[in-house]
Parts: sequence; C-alpha cells; structure tokens
Amino acid sequence: YAAKRRSEDIISYKSEFVTSTPESLSLLSELRQAVTNNELRVYLQPKVSTVDHRVIAAEALVRWQHPEKGLVPPFKFVPFAEQTGFIRELTKWMIRSLASQWQGLQLGHEVFRVSVNLSTRDLLSPTFPDFVQQTLHDFQVPTTGVCLEITESAIMDDPTFAEQTLAKLSNMGFRLSIDDFGTGYSSLGYLKRLPVNELKVDQSFVFGMIEDNNDRTIVQSTIDLAHNLGLEVVAEGVETEAMYLALRELGCEEAQGYFIGKPMPVEEFIVWRDQWHKEHGLA
Ligand code: C2E
Ligand code: MG
Ligand code: MG
Ligand code: MG
Repeated sequence: YAAKRRSEDIISYKSEFVTSTPESLSLLSELRQAVTNNELRVYLQPKVSTVDHRVIAAEALVRWQHPEKGLVPPFKFVPFAEQTGFIRELTKWMIRSLASQWQGLQLGHEVFRVSVNLSTRDLLSPTFPDFVQQTLHDFQVPTTGVCLEITESAIMDDPTFAEQTLAKLSNMGFRLSIDDFGTGYSSLGYLKRLPVNELKVDQSFVFGMIEDNNDRTIVQSTIDLAHNLGLEVVAEGVETEAMYLALRELGCEEAQGYFIGKPMPVEEFIVWRDQWHKEHGLA
C-alpha cells in the first residue's frame, strides 16, 4: 500500500481521487485556486523557553482567507488535502512562503527557529528532502533554523521509508520534532532509532495536568523519557499560568499555547514578540 502511494506521488495526486463526490471535486479545485490567488496565509504561534521566557521559535500554521467564507481554520481543509494528496502542494507553498519571510523574522534576534508541519505524503515523497533543501538555499535560510514537525501516525504509515526520509532531512541539518506525542500508535523502538531532536507533548495531556493526576503523570513521564533519550521537550496547549509553571517545574524546556500567544499573522507576530520581550525585561 505504501509503495503504491509512493508511485502515485510520481504520477499525480489526481490518481487517488477515486471516491470523488461533486463537493470534494469542487473543494479540490477551490484549493488549487487558493494557491494561485494567494488566499493561503501563514500564521505564527510563539514557542518560548520556560527558563528565561524568551521567544525562541514559532510554529507555522496555515489559514485560508476565503473570499466568501472568511478565515478558514486548518481542520476544514488540511485532512481533505492530506486525503487527496494536495497537501504536498500546500507544504511546498508553506516552505516557500516561510523561506521568503525568513530574513525579516531574524532581525534583532539570535537564531530564531520556525517549525513546519509535515504530513505522511511529504515523508513518502522521494523528492521532498531535495525540494526543501533547495528552497531554503535559494533564500539563504540555514536548515538548522527550521524544525519539521511530524506526527507518530505519519511515521507509522511506512516506517521504513519514513526513516530513510528523516535520516536524509536530519543529515541536511533540519531539526526534527514528534508532534502530538502520546496520541498516535507509535513504537518506542522507533523513537530510539529515528534522528529526532524534540518531542511535543500533546495538548490533551497538558489541558488536564493541573486537575488530573493521570495526565500529570503522563506529562511528567514523557518529559523524563525524552530527556533520558537526549531529546528536548515542548508542551503544546499551555492555556494557563498554572500549566506553564508546572511544566517549568517538571523541566519542560519549551512551551506553546494561548497563555503565551495565539497563532497570528507574521507582521503581527513580529510586533507581539518585541512587546513580550519588553514585558519580560528581555529587550
Ligand atoms: P498541531 O500541529 O498540533 O498544531 C497545534 C494546534 O493547536 C494549532 O491549531 C494551534 O492553534 C492549537 N493551539 C495552540 N495552543 C493552543 C491552546 O493553548 N489551546 C488550544 N485549545 N489550542 C491551541 P490549528 O492552527 O487549528 O491547527 C490544527 C492542526 O492542523 C495542526 O495541529 C496540524 O496538525 C494541522 N496543520 C495546521 N497547519 C498545517 C500545515 O501548514 N501543514 C500541515 N500538514 N498541517 C497543518
Ligand atoms: Mg504541529
Ligand atoms: Mg501538535
Ligand atoms: Mg495537536
């Protein structure tokens, strides 16, 4: 099955579109137009160091500024894009867009990392690593400044091939992160073998960690597991100060969530970051 998907990657995403309904066909053509008409937007959500509160990275999250529907969140089109294979176009758009805005995001900062979410389709595409490397090179962006977020399920679709792709990306200098850790069907054996640098504790555990002892235990165990494997830990979904302080206490290096900042357009993010640093005496 995975080999079939890889060969389709070379043919075209259209070929897998067998169970197409009129609605899904029109969504696909709308999505194609969204790219050509410049309707996709990059939103950035800050990631801060729990040690000194500095904004050290941001996660890029896609939004669709639809002419009639307004701002469309990813859950309305990313799963569909994954299903149809269009996600590969979306990922490429995202990477080009970030690379072109990279220099503006570095101003006045030490190396500032940007994370991009990848899907199974990207990992199974034999041409993907060269594409990202070349695009970053064209915009003079160092690969070490880019983190690629991958979910466990994206890896487990075809672990052998995913492992090869991840090894290539890692050798190119990219930072690799396992997103939504603890929610997928993963094997801890892979965690040991894969060249990953960080784990992101899933927000479902972070939400409950103050009230629910089981969630707190899961968060703590994930942090310890990561550290024992030499990985850094990011917590997502940090919505309250209590969560932020508890995570800091447990040794979680980075935090991301509404308590710190919501995803925002790039220009807004740059202003927000200066403000945050001033408020924390980091200017
Ligand atoms: P994710 O990668 O796990 O991203 C984290 C999601 O949690 C984001 O939702 C973010 O806005 C949300 N979030 C962050 N902090 C908090 C918080 O404190 N509370 C709550 N309730 N939510 C928080 P978003 O932007 O709607 O994205 C949802 C998912 O869509 C992402 O989950 C990712 O899987 C996917 N996605 C978004 N953009 C892209 C993209 O460019 N490419 C791909 N392949 N997937 C994307
Ligand atoms: Mg993510
Ligand atoms: Mg996540
Ligand atoms: Mg998530």
